Amino acid sequence: MKIVTVLGARPQFIKACVVSHAIAQSTLSEVVVHTGQHFDANMSDVFFAELGMAKPAYQLDIHGGTHGAMTGRMLAEVEQVLQAEAPDLVLVYGDTNSTLAGALAAVKLHIPVAHVEAGLRSFNMAMPEEVNRVLTDRISKWLFTPTAIAAQHLTREGIPAERIIPVGDVMYDVALHHGGSVDADGGVLQRLGLQPKKYILATIHRAENTDHPQRLDAIVGALALVAETSTIVWPVHPRTRAVLRRAGLLDRLAKCVTLIDPVGYLDMVQLEKYAALIVTDSGGVQKESFFFQVPCVTLRDETEWVELVEAGWNRLAPPVDSSGVAGHIAAAMNTRGKDINPYGDGHAAQRIVERLLSV
Ligand code: UDP
Repeated sequence: MKIVTVLGARPQFIKACVVSHAIAQSTLSEVVVHTGQHFDANMSDVFFAELGMAKPAYQLDIHGGTHGAMTGRMLAEVEQVLQAEAPDLVLVYGDTNSTLAGALAAVKLHIPVAHVEAGLRSFNMAMPEEVNRVLTDRISKWLFTPTAIAAQHLTREGIPAERIIPVGDVMYDVALHHGGSVDADGGVLQRLGLQPKKYILATIHRAENTDHPQRLDAIVGALALVAETSTIVWPVHPRTRAVLRRAGLLDRLAKCVTLIDPVGYLDMVQLEKYAALIVTDSGGVQKESFFFQVPCVTLRDETEWVELVEAGWNRLAPPVDSSGVAGHIAAAMNTRGKDINPYGDGHAAQRIVERLLSV
């Protein structure tokens, strides 16, 4: 059986590496299509190299432009690949434009779709990611869910039980497999001269923050306040860097926060594991902070990963005013959540492949 995997953004390379590895060890064959949504070496190539993934068979080089223009180009070009490859199914991950374009191109050609990380909901349709995931789930035949709550969302939306396949979270698999052995020696910690548990790690890239000047201002103001007493390291997403520069905030930030370029997965895991606290709006980073038992403050109004908020590992700090956000950060320091295990046993990828082998 032949699978075409469509991916294009940083978190998808990370999620796909364990599944691609499990596919390679099975009788399934996989053709990987990289849409080009993320294209910088430190947003793309580094993950293929570090996580042992084969180079994609197709590089479509589609990025930039509006959501509609980008998704439309992907749809047309992925369709051509699918016509040429004639796979038995198409595999997509997460909630980006590449996810939706891959799923839509396939379903229009009557090729069944498997969606990894199905059922996540923020219930905020203003988020591009929410639109992508809701639509992708609706047109997918196999919905691989990371948590019990994700499966419940799909059931509530009327998806038949036989299409909902609870497997656990592939990011947990990756964190155990590739991140487990990362220690405090060498790496980015040494390069930056950071002491374990003596710094805060920040990442911000969601459109709801970068594209709203007041929210961005509140975030920058909060980090400047916190930086009066704590070291903060921030690997800056290229889109966020461009917005900060345009807003004239980059220089102000660079005076109080250690701004670095995006790092590879292993450096990122090291930064996460040895942080005293993580401040983020990333979905993946919220979970990884829990995997490494680090308290997290999420700069959003809501989260898809509600179990971490309920268990006390993560707290929501909507970025409306600087002192409010700084207060949340101070309150979260040195806290610990309850012991929970919502993301499976580290074998989600194997389960996905076993299910695909039986279709
Ligand atoms: N990540 C990374 N380097 C960085 C920032 C993030 O390797 O400089 C990893 C992070 O560890 C996680 C994933 O990228 O596995 C999260 O991706 P991102 O925050 O871009 O997307 P989201 O999870 O919000 O969809």
